[in-house]
Parts: sequence; structure tokens; C-alpha cells
Amino acid sequence: MHDFTIASARAALRAKKVSAQELTEAHLDAIAALNPRLNALITVMPETARAQAAAADAALARGEAHALSGIPLAIKDLFCTGGVRTTAASRILEPFVPPYESTVTANLLRAGAVFLGKANLDEFAMGSSNMTSAFGPVTNPWTRRGDNRALVPGGSSGGSAAAVAARLALGATGTDTGGSIRQPASFCGIVGIKPTYGRCSRWGIVAFASSLDQAGPFARTVEDCAILLGAMAGHDPKDSTSADVPVPDFAAACTRGVKGLRIGVPREYRSDGMAPEIEALWQQGIAWLREQGAEIIDVSLPHTKYALATYYIVAPAEASSNLARYDGVRFGLRKDGEDLDQLYENTRAAGFGAEVRRRIMIGTYVLSAGYYDAYYLRAQKVRALILRDFTEAFRHCDALLTPTAPSAAFGQGEKMDDPVTMYLNDVFTVPANMAGIPGLSVPAGLDAQGLPLGLQVLGKPFDEETVFAVGAAIERAAAFNVLPAIRAGA
Ligand code: GLN
Repeated sequence: MHDFTIASARAALRAKKVSAQELTEAHLDAIAALNPRLNALITVMPETARAQAAAADAALARGEAHALSGIPLAIKDLFCTGGVRTTAASRILEPFVPPYESTVTANLLRAGAVFLGKANLDEFAMGSSNMTSAFGPVTNPWTRRGDNRALVPGGSSGGSAAAVAARLALGATGTDTGGSIRQPASFCGIVGIKPTYGRCSRWGIVAFASSLDQAGPFARTVEDCAILLGAMAGHDPKDSTSADVPVPDFAAACTRGVKGLRIGVPREYRSDGMAPEIEALWQQGIAWLREQGAEIIDVSLPHTKYALATYYIVAPAEASSNLARYDGVRFGLRKDGEDLDQLYENTRAAGFGAEVRRRIMIGTYVLSAGYYDAYYLRAQKVRALILRDFTEAFRHCDALLTPTAPSAAFGQGEKMDDPVTMYLNDVFTVPANMAGIPGLSVPAGLDAQGLPLGLQVLGKPFDEETVFAVGAAIERAAAFNVLPAIRAGA
């Protein structure tokens, strides 16, 4: 039951070899057995899942198979789910039960998906380790060889990635503002894609940094991610930044191959202290693509070195503005005070964790009179230069290949005392958010300690098809089939 991919489960469901209800029960059992150890899900939704599975079985019996009929998924707890508690992994939203469904989750439900539960994350998606969740850290299902200390799953979508890697769900949703899909995918040995900004609607997703946030899927294969993205994406009049462009058959693109494609290798994607295995894996990835008929091109993205610094101005600035709405008046938690100011102060002090408060303070500072021009406006200008680098590079190549993250998964509690070290996790993923381009992480090998490492494929805006084609080519060559220590069916 747990060896299924989305594609193979879909075929088995249509051939009546398995029912949606059996598939759902198997995953609910796996969650009951392993979630106490992993803490990947904040909320489990057994009744909802059973009802959705029964409805999927009825539809399948009528011969009405939709793209995801009966496929059990985990939903990052940043997506509003109608009638189901949504936390953003923060105390400040307690007890918020949205009366509406986000567009992305509504699209998935329309495609017949079954929702098993809401996945843990860093508070308001701010983090790279899942350590900032008000609901406790997530444990990576992978451990180092001969060492069973708990590792982080990455972040912010760490619960989604851990759930898929440990086989608690066939796929999951995530969001990626600076790497929150790709870095956890790399840390957990699965596939994740951040599509082009505007590909998926942001409506009904708790906002972090609105000009960077994008929803995307996690799954155990590139094809499965393509299937999920096809169901999630699409124009939405309720999000003015959602793009009115057709949604192509992403899954079909996975079999295109890379013959004749020009793959750029950006020379700036190296960081101090990057593990030698990562450099070696990158060279291996280049060799795999060359062997499959791609032409490898050396490219330069000169403003990459400013991307992280600029991100940590733009993202907190937008966060400080977006999070102003949590004031104890309209949503969730309220801590009363003598007057209105005290109500705000008490509520926000009690409701927000340390990382969120740090971001709000940085964001408020860089937007304040006198500093706006020096920081925020300047960061926006650098952002335009980062985009120009990519536009220039894509005149010479069809996609770029880079490492996803500068390290493999690290221990829970490591890097916690130094926010700058933590922020360095995003050094290779942030530029794609700054430029709005799609990026996919695909597991490509193991480090010396037996932990998975991902390679990142970056593409032109709205050319996820080429990204999937390149990702699938790496997947075929890597034949990555190692499984994590903690998993259902082990
Ligand atoms: N790790 C990055 C941050 O902390 C990115 C988070 C994200 O993509 N949501 O901001």
C-alpha cells in the first residue's frame, strides 16, 4: 500500500485493484503509528478524509475519474481549509477555523483528492528548519548512518516534506517564499517544485511576503509533482497576481528528454563551507544531462551574491505589513489590556514567536521613514538586477542546474543561536523567488553520512514543462531509491 506513487495509485484505483477508502485507511494508520514521532501533521482529519474517500470511490464506480480521485494528500497548514482549523503554526491564530477554502485546496478537492490532515511548518512559514513552529519541531524521517539523533526536515514546509518522505501521504502542498518547498524536499529526499510566481493562486493562503509567496507540490517522483501541479494551478480572478495563462500537461513534459536542450551552469552558485559532496553531485548532474544529449553552458548570474541580503529586506518588509492584521480584534488570540494599544501589545507579544517578532521588527525598520530609501527601495532595485541576470542567462540556455541547498539536513537545535547561519540555507533558492521563476528540487544522491541531497533545476517564467523534463532526466539517471529509516511499511 505504501509503495504507491500518485501515478501508480491512480492506475490501481481506476483498475479497481484498490479502493480510495483502503488507500486512505492505510495512510491514516501510518499517521497514527508514526506522527507521534515525526510531528509532521498538526491536525489529522480522519472523518473528512473518510468522507472524501467514499465520495471518490462512488465517482470511480460511476466511471468519473478525475485527476486525483482518491489520492490522499497532506496540506501545509498555511492553506485555509473550510471548516478545518488553520494555524500557520502560530499561537496567534488560535482558534481560527476558516469559513472558506483556499483556491489551491479547492482545486485539489475538485480534482477528487482526499485530505488527510494539515502539515506542520515554521511559524508563518518563516524558517528553514521547522524549529519555529508553535506546535513543536518536525523530525526528519532520515537519520545519519549509525547515529539516530533527530534531524530537521528543513523548512518552512517541513511537515509536508516529512509526511511524504515517511509515506504518510502520497503528496502534499507547500509554499515557497525563499526556498520553503525546495530545501525541505532536498533534506527529505523527495521532489518539490516552486512554480512561476502567478502560476497558482495565493487566495486563501496565509500571507508571508506577497510578492514572493508561491504554492507548489511535494511528491516522491517528478511525474507525481507534475500531476499535482496540474491540479493546483490555474488563473483565479480572486488573486490579481495570478496569471491568466493556460495550464499545460505537465506530466506529459516529464517524458520529453533533454536532447538538444541547453543547460546553464551558473558559476556563482558556490558557497563557503559547501560540502564537497554537493559540488561532486552537481558535477555528476551535469554529466548525466550531457550523457542524455543536453548541451552544457557556463553562465554568470553576477548579482546572486546580493540575493540573500535583499531577500532579508524585502521578505520581512512585506511580512511586517501582512502580519499587522493580527491585532487581537479580528482573528484568533486576544489578550485584553487597559486600552487598545495594550490590547495590541499583549496579543502580539503572546501570540508571535521569537523569529516572527524578529522579522516584524526588521521589516518595520526597513520600511520606516528615513530608512525606506536606504533599504527597501534599494533592495527592490537589486531585485530588478537579479531578474535581469536570469533574463540574460535564459537568452543562452533553456534551464539552469544548481545544488538546492548548501548542506544536507542538520540536527534539531543546530544553527538556532545564529539567525544569519540559518538564513544561509536559502542561498541557492532565494534568487528564483526574487525573479519569480520556477525551481524544482530532485533527489540526486546521498552524502557521506547517508543523507539525501537535491539538485535544483531553474527555468524560464511559465516554462515549468522544461523544468519537469530536466528534473525527470536527472531522476532517471540518479535512480534514487534509498528510503528513510522512519517510514510506513518499514
Ligand atoms: N527559509 C526562508 C525564510 O525563512 C524561506 C521561507 C519560505 O520560503 N517560506 O524566510
